[in-house]
Amino acid sequence: MSDSGSSRPASAECVFCRISRGEIPATVVHEDEDLLVFEDLNPQAPTHLLIIPRAHVASVDDLHDGERDLVGGLILAARDVARSQGVAEDGYRLVANTGRDGGQTVDHLHVHLLAGRPLSWPPG
Ligand code: AMP
Ligand code: ZN
Repeated sequence: MSDSGSSRPASAECVFCRISRGEIPATVVHEDEDLLVFEDLNPQAPTHLLIIPRAHVASVDDLHDGERDLVGGLILAARDVARSQGVAEDGYRLVANTGRDGGQTVDHLHVHLLAGRPLSWPPG
């Protein structure tokens, strides 16, 4: 269980909270008590998945010091899904766009997992 607890009430309006509750359809590739992994609606690579906590955390900047387990769970889930999707060997990129300049468009913490083609650096 994550340590986000009841201090993180679900948002009625948030699109990713609604996906977590099953109110909006998504192609889910992994889920457990604490997090969800589903396909991005507008994929930027052959594999483009989003890893989200079920708890409504707005962004990396909104994380509490006590949420190490929540954050670690997202990264370890990304590792596991990359393996199960068969992209771990060739490699992949994890991205957490944060805030306006970071290009964040959905205010529910998410980690992008991009893979299946060479990804250029630096990003735009
Ligand atoms: P960001 O711009 O980093 O906030 O990423 C938000 C991502 O969520 C974008 O890549 C969108 O394509 C994706 N997205 C938005 N709505 C949905 C949805 N209903 N199902 C799946 N992906 C979505
Ligand atoms: Zn949310």
